[in-house]
Amino acid sequence: MSKHIQAVRGMNDILPEQTPCWQYLESVWREILPAYGYREIRLPVLEKTELFKRSIGEVTDIVEKEMYTFTDRNGDSLTLRPEGTAGCVRAGIEHGLLYNQIQRLWYQGPMFRHERPQKGRYRQFHQVGVEAFGMAGPDIDAELILMSARMLQRIGLADSVVLQINSLGTAEARASYRDLLVSYFSGHLEQLDEDSRRRLHSNPLRILDSKHPQMRALVEQAPRLSEHLDSESREHFQRLLAYLDDAGVGYQINPRLVRGLDYYSKTVFEWVTDRLGAQGTVCAGGRFDSLVTQLGGKPAPAAGFAIGMERLVALLMDTGGEQVNAVGPQVYLVVVGEAAERRGMQIAEQLRETLPKLRLQLNCGGGSFKSQLKRADRSGAELALILGDNELAQGSVIVKPLRSGGEQLTLGYEQISGYLETELLRYR
Ligand code: ATP
Ligand code: MG
Repeated sequence: MSKHIQAVRGMNDILPEQTPCWQYLESVWREILPAYGYREIRLPVLEKTELFKRSIGEVTDIVEKEMYTFTDRNGDSLTLRPEGTAGCVRAGIEHGLLYNQIQRLWYQGPMFRHERPQKGRYRQFHQVGVEAFGMAGPDIDAELILMSARMLQRIGLADSVVLQINSLGTAEARASYRDLLVSYFSGHLEQLDEDSRRRLHSNPLRILDSKHPQMRALVEQAPRLSEHLDSESREHFQRLLAYLDDAGVGYQINPRLVRGLDYYSKTVFEWVTDRLGAQGTVCAGGRFDSLVTQLGGKPAPAAGFAIGMERLVALLMDTGGEQVNAVGPQVYLVVVGEAAERRGMQIAEQLRETLPKLRLQLNCGGGSFKSQLKRADRSGAELALILGDNELAQGSVIVKPLRSGGEQLTLGYEQISGYLETELLRYR
């Protein structure tokens, strides 16, 4: 016998017990995003490898070691998207959506990174991403943050997360800060891990993003970007904070927050929880004013964020997830005997025709009356409809309440849909 084939490591099946939680989150996003004027864009999961190298940056964890890259049958190098911003900007340029325009776009779907799988960190994971183009001021940064706050609050997680925020300044301001960092870290070469030593000259800012515990103290002591910001970025940041103060949204300024992707400038932020262990960032984003030109478009300022769905699902499950309603059948149709099975199939179809919202499960696969009733009970349905030889002879069905403890009754076929229509109003 051959061994059974298992899923690829770090790529999860989302089972029917979990999908109600995902659907619940998606339904909340579908309400909140349009409320802020965001429109959905659907993007391919495969892009040319070059796109990610040019946007995320050659010297980043993602591009150096996490991408699923392969050569396709035409000899082109393609990559499963590790994030959504690059593809969104690519599509925006390609379809002329960005130049001299205001766009608020969102997308969702799977992302792929070859990371070490652990709780909250997978090789296929899901994000909902939001990108706003054409607005250079701090008002849109603030609106994005308020929207993310609303999303987290709506799903009941407001008390589980804190907002960390920082400014990375402009690329020019970072260039001179970069020299300071290089000389600081050069003085502590022996404390740098291998990655950081390699990046010392190519991308020293990445050292600040190191997750290596033994480098924490060294990073703590490093010169702070916030003390070397250009005046424009400083003002942008102060105005953003004023918006947040006005809205009563609390934040922690974290001078070491740099984010793992090179395209950010000015504002960066993360919503972090301490309830998921080391993988505490549930939402992250910021401003990326030079990305559009970096990818060949005409200049367009931009800002956005991405939410990690798996981490939110984990948090919701952890808090009991009372908001999440499973959508099982409301009615279970028990059919005993071959003639009843045939008639039952017709009745089920007629009911679905007249009551499109009814969730009806027909017993298929036979079984005794007793075992069918057991299935009806396990299905979570409110009612069982019972059709056996006797009922068939009389043109009726028995209605048996499964949860309310009410009386059982008999209805003629023609009465069933009217009866269910009023009953339905009482069910979820
Ligand atoms: P982290 O610091 O946790 O590695 P990141 O900076 O690499 O996150 P982003 O690229 O900003 O993450 O992605 C935004 C969000 O997507 C993260 O905050 C997280 O919630 C989620 N995310 C990122 N990588 C993974 C992963 N491998 N598995 C599950 N969720 C992820
Ligand atoms: Mg990461």
